[in-house]
Amino acid sequence: MKAVVFQGPGQVAVQDRPKPQPQPGEVLIHVAACGICGTDAHIVEGSYEATPGVILGHEFAGTIVALGEGIEDFAVGDAVAVDPNITCGTCSFCQRGEKQLCQHLKALGVTRDGGFAEWCTVPQTQLYRLPHEMPTWQGALAEPVACCLHGLDRLGLKQGETVLLLGGGAIGMLMLQLLQHAGATQIIVSEPNATRRERALRLGATAVLDPTAPDWESQVARWFPEGPDRIVETAGAGPTLQQAIQVARRGATILYFGVARPELEVPIRPYAIYQKELTLTGSFVNPYTHGRAVSLLAASKLDCDTLVTHRFPIKAFATALATQKEAEAIKILILPHTIEENSP
Ligand SMILES: [Zn+2]
Ligand SMILES: [Zn+2]
Repeated sequence: MKAVVFQGPGQVAVQDRPKPQPQPGEVLIHVAACGICGTDAHIVEGSYEATPGVILGHEFAGTIVALGEGIEDFAVGDAVAVDPNITCGTCSFCQRGEKQLCQHLKALGVTRDGGFAEWCTVPQTQLYRLPHEMPTWQGALAEPVACCLHGLDRLGLKQGETVLLLGGGAIGMLMLQLLQHAGATQIIVSEPNATRRERALRLGATAVLDPTAPDWESQVARWFPEGPDRIVETAGAGPTLQQAIQVARRGATILYFGVARPELEVPIRPYAIYQKELTLTGSFVNPYTHGRAVSLLAASKLDCDTLVTHRFPIKAFATALATQKEAEAIKILILPHTIEENSP
């Protein structure tokens, strides 16, 4: 089968691999779609660790085509979304219900073979069944949605509150839709790229701002005279953290959701955190949120047709990865059983 194999920092190749066999407790999945994530780009660039030789791809869904020993709750023909993050269940973090912080966290597409392949073996603990009426490819969005849901749980938004959303990329657009469902009244999106600002408006942003404008702060103040109640950072940048601390209202919560480069350091004013009594929180992966993500997708609560802007066959992975950096791209799917590119 064709697969996208990580060979080491800066090296990724489409290779032929033997079709895998499910071990006890695993199923074999015919992959319908696997999304490209910012993390995949980080892995390929060498700024996020992955095991050399592994097949990449952690946002995927497909159909079960074979069962290993001991599978009782799933059957051949079931369409499933995959939670790629495998936790040990026995370390102190797992025991206290913080499985995302597991000391022995493994992940499909990072430390063991993932979904940029025609077939993939997956432990049954990672499977979430999709309802029949839901197109299987939409299940590939469950992982990023589940990560956003954990972030929003950490944000603690109350209905009727206002939000400043920093960054209008793929995660920003997912957050934008989820924030609307969560009852945010005003959602102002700050994004330097004009194409992305335009799209944020189409997807329901109350207004958009350009963070490179010299009067950005006073524009924010026009929308939020006291400052926004909640701020969601999705860019993984330094200036956005400074902006968030600067404009947050007293008592606000800031969710730093973006994946920053590990070596990034940012000067901030701790006095503002003290004096405004700010809450600054991170969010890591998708603990206990995958089922809710599938439910939201199955109930058509997210505009998947707008969110998925491009689809590529496996052999065009390099082109797909490059396209992800372009402003018009939101979510890009690899369709492993498709031969020809059908991106718009
Ligand atoms: Zn991801
Ligand atoms: Zn653990």
